[in-house]
Amino acid sequence: MQYQPVIGLEVHVQLKTDTKIFCGCSTQFGSEPNSQTCPVCLGLPGALPVLNKKVVEFAIKAGLSTNCSITPRSIFARKNYFYPDLPKGYQISQFEDPICQRGWLDIQVEGQEPKRIGITRIHMEEDAGKLVHGDVSGLDDGSGVDLNRACTPLLEVVSEPDLRSSDEAVIYLKKLHQIVTWLGICDGNMEEGSFRCDANVSVMPVGSDTLGTRAEIKNVNSFKFVKQAIEYEIQRQIDLIEDGGKIVQETRLFDPNSGTTRSMRSKEEAHDYRYFPDPDLVPLVISDDWIEQTRQSLPELPEQRRQRFVADLGLPEYDAEVLTANRALAEYFEAGMEAYGSAKLVANWVMGEITRALNDSGISIEACPVTPSRLAELL
Ligand code: ADP
Ligand code: MG
Ligand code: ZN
Repeated sequence: MQYQPVIGLEVHVQLKTDTKIFCGCSTQFGSEPNSQTCPVCLGLPGALPVLNKKVVEFAIKAGLSTNCSITPRSIFARKNYFYPDLPKGYQISQFEDPICQRGWLDIQVEGQEPKRIGITRIHMEEDAGKLVHGDVSGLDDGSGVDLNRACTPLLEVVSEPDLRSSDEAVIYLKKLHQIVTWLGICDGNMEEGSFRCDANVSVMPVGSDTLGTRAEIKNVNSFKFVKQAIEYEIQRQIDLIEDGGKIVQETRLFDPNSGTTRSMRSKEEAHDYRYFPDPDLVPLVISDDWIEQTRQSLPELPEQRRQRFVADLGLPEYDAEVLTANRALAEYFEAGMEAYGSAKLVANWVMGEITRALNDSGISIEACPVTPSRLAELL
């Protein structure tokens, strides 16, 4: 039998605000453990959360840039579970009425038709702290709790189960990554966990319209691993079904060393989070004015810029795609082009010599010593 994979992604985007979502502590990465904490993010009794306005602004930006509707009145909920790095015993998140709903992104796998991937919802939430094991100062052989990350702001972007291959999943993920970094709301650093993905995977017989039972692979933190994890999982499920077995709904972990996934917990052991509206936070009402102002403040997005490079500058599709890979590169190219007066030669140099020299020396485009005007002079 032929099988059709089905994939839905839940992506956690850490927001690049200076302070946390419900208190004034710094979000700086890599500081001394527990140096960036206060009664609110330590979860001390009686401490009250106050919403960071910047987080809402960033969420609206993300929503508008992914074709979502912005919910005029959204609420925060408590997601209850016990974990040592979660001192309150619950995480403040959104459940019913998240801030952004019903969006989409268009993707295209090379050689295939373009395709629209639905975004079910985007909600705001706080991150948990971190457990540090083993080699921690003062702890020879123990585990420590670092609450610097507790209460840092996240967006969770949940897709519809519209993806049909690992290639589609990776392209969707890259597109989302490009948008949030382009907007300047996330640093995009996947190694540090600023952009991480849970992949839900199921298979069904080709032609069927009933989705199969899914497994959820937790916290995959590179594009390469997402592809590997999904491919392994698809094959594991097909083999299991072909052997007469049955897929169970469960959470799995990807092991990058072996390229395989293994079971973490089954549905029976799954948390029942007992969501309920957080009584410490009032409903969030967003005026049409605020949404409009935010819309006005959006930069030209990668998609629009790519189209403009083709339509107005006459660049080939390929060049436009490469030059809009990130915003700094696109801006460098445009500044160079304006200084020089025509597009194609500048495009060639930026994609060729400049990129090569930057790669060789490990310098970012922002720090390129050959400024756009010097490049124009040189040409
Ligand atoms: P949960 O909160 O328990 O993870 P959701 O209903 O919010 O469950 O779904 C999470 C993700 O799982 C979504 O991205 C959705 O598209 C995806 N998904 C749901 N059903 C399937 C399925 N049968 N196969 C693959 N992905 C699925
Ligand atoms: Mg999930
Ligand atoms: Zn704090």
